[in-house]
Amino acid sequence: MLNKPRLLTPGPTALPESVRLAMAVDMIHHRKPAFKQVMAEIQVKLRHLFGTEQPVLPLSSSGTGAMTAALCNLFQPGEKVLILEGGNFGRRWAEIAHSRGLKTVVESITPGQAADPERLAALLKLHPELRGVCVQLCETSTGVQHPVRELAAITSIGDALLLVDGISGVGISPCPMDQWGIDCLLTGSQKGLMLPPGLSFVAFSARAWGKAAKVDSGNFYFDLGKEKEQVLRQQTCFTPPVSLLLGLNQSLDLFFSAGLEEIYRKQWALCSMAHRGVRAIGLKPFAPEAPAWGVTAVRLPEGLKSSALLAEIFRNYNLVLAAGQGEFKENLIRIGHMGWVDWADLAAALHALQRSCRALGGPSGAPDYLEQALAEYWLAMEQGYPS
Ligand SMILES: *Cc1c(COP(=O)(O)O)cnc(C)c1O
Repeated sequence: MLNKPRLLTPGPTALPESVRLAMAVDMIHHRKPAFKQVMAEIQVKLRHLFGTEQPVLPLSSSGTGAMTAALCNLFQPGEKVLILEGGNFGRRWAEIAHSRGLKTVVESITPGQAADPERLAALLKLHPELRGVCVQLCETSTGVQHPVRELAAITSIGDALLLVDGISGVGISPCPMDQWGIDCLLTGSQKGLMLPPGLSFVAFSARAWGKAAKVDSGNFYFDLGKEKEQVLRQQTCFTPPVSLLLGLNQSLDLFFSAGLEEIYRKQWALCSMAHRGVRAIGLKPFAPEAPAWGVTAVRLPEGLKSSALLAEIFRNYNLVLAAGQGEFKENLIRIGHMGWVDWADLAAALHALQRSCRALGGPSGAPDYLEQALAEYWLAMEQGYPS
């Protein structure tokens, strides 16, 4: 009651009021003109967001549904794909591939580090039978940004398709699908897009559609060829989450009224601010060399457990951050700064982190840690993001 609730997790994220209100309306029917109008509007904006001339298909599922749909529609059981696995979500690609009966080559990347384009080129040469390469734009479990542009430059001159899980990256850092040569880009609603969970989005390149036409998805619900035909008629195969699509139409309006470039600038500035603030508090960012633009993972010193720290932050400041995942559950925390988060929210998070850290016997850092962080934000806003 004293403090406003603040949700700074890497999904779900807080919702702008105008998005909440856009969803708080009576139902419209999904086979009638009013809905088709919404689908037409959404489609134009989604293509712009994805940087593609191909259709972007909204699916009724969480992000993992789009990952599953992509693998099932692009590959036949027995085909081989390469997984660039740098954490929990990279592992998820491998699990889905195995459930589809695909063969895999799993390239393990040291947690906290980014995929190496030269290594990708070497692996494709070593395994000419590879039909696809799966990676994350941002590995959310460790706060790493993979160099998708460089990876795509390699796959686009070969036969293997590049599948990018952009669930925590689309709308957060630039990822123009057509320009970079990505074959499949997908995302979910509850991260950069400032919506509740429940929708995912997937787009294929022209050559990926060519491949999909030769594959039996083995899937009644996620048959993307059929879904595409429907989307081109402003329809969906099955009853969609209409309210979420109304919210999406509004959230995309917010994106484009600010301007995509400005959103990316803000995201980079938040990332720079988080890293600077975390260091000034006396803690270490987990992925300093390849920082994700929407989430910062922080390594905790020996003896400070994420469960205790996060509980302290929640109890005293009503602020929700995330723990690490898997082997990093207790020794990492993750500050989500994607979507509807601004410099003041992040300042609140850094302040709560500093005070809680100190209260639990951890470092308290430089007295001007907040000023340092804020100065970094405004400097980055002025200078813009690295290309
Ligand atoms: C959140 C996330 C997922 C999982 O999405 P769900 O919506 O929970 O299915 C997958 N990949 C990445 C990179 C994510 O950040």
